[in-house]
Amino acid sequence: MNTRVVPAVDLGHQYADDLPELALPWQAAEVPEPRPLVLNDALASDLGLDPDWLRTADGVGLLTGTRVPEGATPVAQAYAGHQFGGYSPRLGDGRALLLGELGDGEGRLRDLHLKGSGRTPFSRGGDGYAAVGPMLREYVISEAMHALGIPTTRSLAVVATGREVHREVVLPGAVLARVASSHLRVGTFQYARATDDLDLLRRLADHAIARHHPEAADAEQPHLALFEAVVAAQASLVAQWMLVGFVHGVMNTDNMTISGETIDYGPCAFIDAFDPATVFSSIDTGGRYAYGNQPVVAEWNLARFAEALLPLLADEQDDAVALAVASLEKFRDLYSDAWKAGMHAKLGLPEGLADAVTSALVADLVTLMRDNHVDHTSFFRGLGDAARGDAAPARGLVLDLAAYDAWAERWLALSPDAAAMDRVNPAYVPRNHLVEEALAAGTDGDLAPLNQLLDVLSQPYDVRPGQERFAEPAPESFGTGYQTFCGT
Ligand code: AMP
Ligand code: MG
Repeated sequence: MNTRVVPAVDLGHQYADDLPELALPWQAAEVPEPRPLVLNDALASDLGLDPDWLRTADGVGLLTGTRVPEGATPVAQAYAGHQFGGYSPRLGDGRALLLGELGDGEGRLRDLHLKGSGRTPFSRGGDGYAAVGPMLREYVISEAMHALGIPTTRSLAVVATGREVHREVVLPGAVLARVASSHLRVGTFQYARATDDLDLLRRLADHAIARHHPEAADAEQPHLALFEAVVAAQASLVAQWMLVGFVHGVMNTDNMTISGETIDYGPCAFIDAFDPATVFSSIDTGGRYAYGNQPVVAEWNLARFAEALLPLLADEQDDAVALAVASLEKFRDLYSDAWKAGMHAKLGLPEGLADAVTSALVADLVTLMRDNHVDHTSFFRGLGDAARGDAAPARGLVLDLAAYDAWAERWLALSPDAAAMDRVNPAYVPRNHLVEEALAAGTDGDLAPLNQLLDVLSQPYDVRPGQERFAEPAPESFGTGYQTFCGT
């Protein structure tokens, strides 16, 4: 083993201590030629890690798992999951490791986790590795989501390994170091439930409460309160995805967190032309995870979470089911309230409007956007200009001008607040053609386009003169029918 000891970092192992049945001690694969491609200095500092030290051999060793601090216990985490509706009893970290936990600036535990760090007992047929392109993709999109204010895992670094990774073609390998408030998934509970070990399930639920939803501990029924807290967190999260045009692409139950953070950026992408049926992932042929299906899928996944929790909710199964159903029923209102409040803000509407007025205005807007396939990001940003008296940017995206004019007249009569709109309608999102361009260059060793893109996306609400191309829809040469691929 090449694992040497890094003394500078204090990595906790609370997950491994609390839940040894779900944590297989394991080591990262050797890295032939480590080369950091991108490193998140601000995030490192938040975590008490010196960015300069992270660039040393010891630091890069930590970021690839090849030199871990004394006392750390890297583990592969066990989980199950429904993938495209079919249950897999044993997934787990097949190419990932939890190195341990760090405290952030606010005293919360944050997982330091690697992706692409080699085979584990959960690898099944996989090689345990990851390629540079998909890891840079997770870095860009997760950091963009964070800057947009959407709960997400963060990316600390991507280190090229110097190893060839064999997919359809040979690709350069990389390890992503990511940070999350935890890696507990709906699939983690499904795995624990399937062991029939009630004590394990209870310890897992209590670990989740302590880490993510501490207020549930004081509830009359803490485990039911945990369920309701996750229902609320996911309703809010998915509403935020919808409001910004994000398509996760692979909402399997193993890719849904208990914390309410977005996780596992694989074939995800932002919509350009507004269409609820939008699917990017090459393997999602049935459109199960289409843009417009995401709220329904989230509710389906939460039902699977409820099933896993049933033995903790009541002694009699019928009682437990009744409780779970009543709690899950809250999802729809929570989701639609969050979405409506978000649309209200995106349209800069004043407080105190009659619900019927807002609802009709929003419903007609959605129809207008869908019928005209308008660019989602540019259109909402352009409505801010329209609120200031310059109709051209938004109106220019609509084919049916009469329909736009009729809708805009009703909306403008409500005196929308343009400045408030600019704070919630991003000018910049990681548009597909920009991401592809940056990843292609990065894979070829030119990191300048990636760094420039990261810079613009770090302040998505602030228009920067001279950076217009980052706000524009894809050129026609990019074509339609953009496809993304799972990061395997
Ligand atoms: P994902 O699509 O990344 O959410 O992964 C789904 C499951 O497949 C997880 O259990 C992963 O650990 C596993 N997996 C994905 N890619 C690989 C790989 N290259 N080697 C081993 N396991 C993998
Ligand atoms: Mg996953």
